[in-house]
Amino acid sequence: MKKEVLKRFKKLFEQQKANVLYNDKVIRDDFAVSGDDRMDDVDQASSDVEQSLRMRLRNREMLLIKKVDEALKRIEEGTFGSCNSCENDIELKRLEARPTATLCIACKEDEERREALSADGRRHKSLGAVLPRMG
Ligand SMILES: [Zn+2]
Repeated sequence: MKKEVLKRFKKLFEQQKANVLYNDKVIRDDFAVSGDDRMDDVDQASSDVEQSLRMRLRNREMLLIKKVDEALKRIEEGTFGSCNSCENDIELKRLEARPTATLCIACKEDEERREALSADGRRHKSLGAVLPRMG
């Protein structure tokens, strides 16, 4: 992969990380404020819901950071942009749509097909156990 392209992706990843870390700070500042308030039960309940929403958002962000970190590591190692499975170059179009992708389109489709097949297999089995066979 060309150096300029790598640089562009590196910048993108660093921006993504900075965004997440900024959000993280906003969330923590928010927590600090609500922690000082005395709340009745209703407020407490809605704050619990809010808190679990925030935690879910945070988990998603942590996952993104992990992926971005892995991608940055691949840039350092010079393996960024090659498929983890077949080691061919991942299509640039695909990387632009999904910069943290680690599989080329063909391998990704393969993987999805296998997952669909095994999900299908499970479904057929459980259906067969519940429904009597017709005919
Ligand atoms: Zn591949």
